[in-house]
Amino acid sequence: MSDTPTRIALITGASRGIGEASARLMAANGRHVVLAARSLDALEAIANDIEKAGGKASVYKCDITDHTGLAQLVEKVADDHGRLDILVNNAGITRDNLLLRMTDEEFDEVIACNLRSCFVTCRAALRQMMRGKFGRIINVSSVSGVIGNPGQANYAAAKSGLIGFTKTIAKEMASKKITANVVAPGFVETAMTNDLPDRVKKFATQVTPVGRFGKPEELAAAINFLTSDDAGYITGQVLCVDGGMSM
Ligand code: NAP
Repeated sequence: MSDTPTRIALITGASRGIGEASARLMAANGRHVVLAARSLDALEAIANDIEKAGGKASVYKCDITDHTGLAQLVEKVADDHGRLDILVNNAGITRDNLLLRMTDEEFDEVIACNLRSCFVTCRAALRQMMRGKFGRIINVSSVSGVIGNPGQANYAAAKSGLIGFTKTIAKEMASKKITANVVAPGFVETAMTNDLPDRVKKFATQVTPVGRFGKPEELAAAINFLTSDDAGYITGQVLCVDGGMSM
C-alpha cells in the first residue's frame, strides 16, 4: 500500500505508544513521517530506526497545549517539506477523577490538550491540504468518547467532541479530496494504561469481548489504512478499534 507522490504525514504524540507504532508503520508504507511530541530524544531514536530501515522521518519538538506554537508548527512542517498531506492528531492525556471531585483545572487541561489542539492543527493543516488538493485527517478519540466512562467526564467530553468535529470537517471538505475520520481505541497496552490498578485492568479485559487489551500496532494498522490513498471513499467515520467493547 504505497502512495504516489511521497505523502508528508504529521503525527502528534509520536514519541511512544499508538503514535510511535503508527509512525513506524506509515513510514514502512512509503510516507515521509513527521514525528511531533515533547520528548525530543525519543523522537530522534524512532526517526533513526525508521531511516535505518530505509524510511523517511523528521522530528519536531512541540507541546500541543501551546496553541499558538502548534499552529506555527503545522505551517513550518508544510514549509520545510513543501506540502502536508496527512495529519494524525494522536497526542492525548488523561486526568481522571469522578465528576463530583473533578476540578476546573482537570477539565480545562484535558479539553485544551485533547480537543482544542486538534481544532488548531486541523485548521492550519486544511489550508495546506486544500493547496495540495489532497488530505487525510485522523483524530484519535476513544471508546470513552463513544460510550462514556466513569471517572473520565473531561476525557469523554473531549473525545466525544472530536467525533462531531471530525464529521463536520468531513462534510466541509468532502468535495476537495480531503477525508477526515476518527479512530477510537479501546484499552491499549501503552504508558497511558500501564499504571491502571489491577482491578481496573481486570474489569477492562472482562468488558472487552476479545478478552484482552489491544496492541499499539493494531491501532496503527487502522490509522495506516485510513490515511492511504486507497481510503478516499471513507470519510466522517468512527472506527472503533476496541476488541468489540463498544458494540
Ligand atoms: P501514551 O503512550 O501516553 O502517549 C501519548 C503521546 O502523547 C506521547 O507521545 C506524548 O509525548 C504525547 N503528548 C502528551 N501530552 C503532550 C503535549 N502536551 N504535547 C505534545 N505531545 C504530548 O498514550 P497512547 O495510549 O499511545 O495514546 C495515544 C492516543 O490514543 C491518545 O489520544 C489517547 O487518548 C488515545 N487512547 C488511548 C487508549 C489506551 O488505552 N492507551 C485508549 C483510548 C484512546 P510526550 O510526552 O513526549 O510529549
